[in-house]
Amino acid sequence: MKERNFLDRVMEFEQELESMQKQFRELIGFVAQMTEENHSLQLENHHLRKRLEDMDKQIEEQALAKTQTINVRQHQKKPNKIDVGEGVDNLARLYNEGFHVCNVHYGSSRKGEDCLFCLSFLNKQNV
Ligand SMILES: [Zn+2]
Repeated sequence: MKERNFLDRVMEFEQELESMQKQFRELIGFVAQMTEENHSLQLENHHLRKRLEDMDKQIEEQALAKTQTINVRQHQKKPNKIDVGEGVDNLARLYNEGFHVCNVHYGSSRKGEDCLFCLSFLNKQNV
């Protein structure tokens, strides 16, 4: 009776050990799975960070290119403004040389007389 009880307890203990071993294996499997997942997440994170940096660089380069384009446009605009100024200067010189620059008599001689149309036109251009 006492022996039988002891044997039962040993067998019970063996079952508990098996159960614990099974749980332990599951735990190890879980840890392995988590480690693998963590590794792949780190890889993905690394790739995403690199991509983000590349995109930041691209955006920076595009912004720089835009600024340069605007600078080029501004440089191109300046000569245009000068052209307009030169055009007005030419008209003023033409007027001072005695010719009409107004729409009414453009190109014809003023015959030494001031023309209100010309003066008004030149004043408008200088503004
Ligand atoms: Zn005139």
